[in-house]
Amino acid sequence: MPEDGIDAVIAWFAASGRDLPWRHEDTTAWAILVSEVMLQQTPVARVLPRWQEWMARWPAPADLADATTAEVLRQWDRLGYPRRALRLQECARAIVREHGGRVPHGEEALRTLPGIGEYTAAAVTAFAHHDRAVVVDTNIRRVLARSVSGRALPDRSYSAAERALATRSLPRDRGRSVAWNQSVMELGALVCTARAPRCEQCPLREVGCAWVAAGRPAPQEDGRRTQAFEGTDRQMRGRIMALLRTHGAASQAQLLAEDAEDPARVTRCARSLVADGLAVRAEDGLRLP
Ligand code: SF4
Repeated sequence: MPEDGIDAVIAWFAASGRDLPWRHEDTTAWAILVSEVMLQQTPVARVLPRWQEWMARWPAPADLADATTAEVLRQWDRLGYPRRALRLQECARAIVREHGGRVPHGEEALRTLPGIGEYTAAAVTAFAHHDRAVVVDTNIRRVLARSVSGRALPDRSYSAAERALATRSLPRDRGRSVAWNQSVMELGALVCTARAPRCEQCPLREVGCAWVAAGRPAPQEDGRRTQAFEGTDRQMRGRIMALLRTHGAASQAQLLAEDAEDPARVTRCARSLVADGLAVRAEDGLRLP
């Protein structure tokens, strides 16, 4: 990415970036870590109210570490992929046990925490500790694929070449690197979107976008398909978790009523929730842990 491209994206963010609470100066590293975990598979609009309630209830790792698992799962509500909630609590407990209740500095230390992978460790390093880190999420991958590589979309799986491109694109200066990470991620979320990029509003258009210059070639066929949600085990797991969050427990009859035509699906999903630690067997059915 040329220097004037970096300047243009940072200036665009200063004028057009969203005012999200986890971006405020006084937000703690723990609150930023929680927001990053929630945002990984859930849109901002759904995360916002849950994050605010979560941080009001459990402002520090020690608070979450002491909560019951049932409370944590109820508070996670419908953010989806609830194993993230369990991992977040394990993470809080590890921070209390091993780091005196404070989020550790450095990607290496962060990656030793439960549930913290390459992306979250880099994001916390950049956005909470304001250090240089190669942050790569789906939005950044897409902006770089288009603007630098001239491709409509990145490959399905994240490659070493993409990481090398993101590393080369990261400004050397620490403050500028933090601003770049935040700005380019927001550009991907708001302007260089997957389905309908708003190139006429994009700061990179003036500087030169390889994909636009190449005449916007179509994406390469990679068998990418969006799996229908209706009828999936993930949907059924969500429905069972909703029952448990509302009532604390569900009888076998209540569970089977969720899909009277396919009791095997209900049984399979109930078993997988128990295996994941999201539910436990009760005398007649399931309950929250
Ligand atoms: S000009 Fe269009 S395709 Fe290129 S980076 Fe901007 S929004 Fe994306």
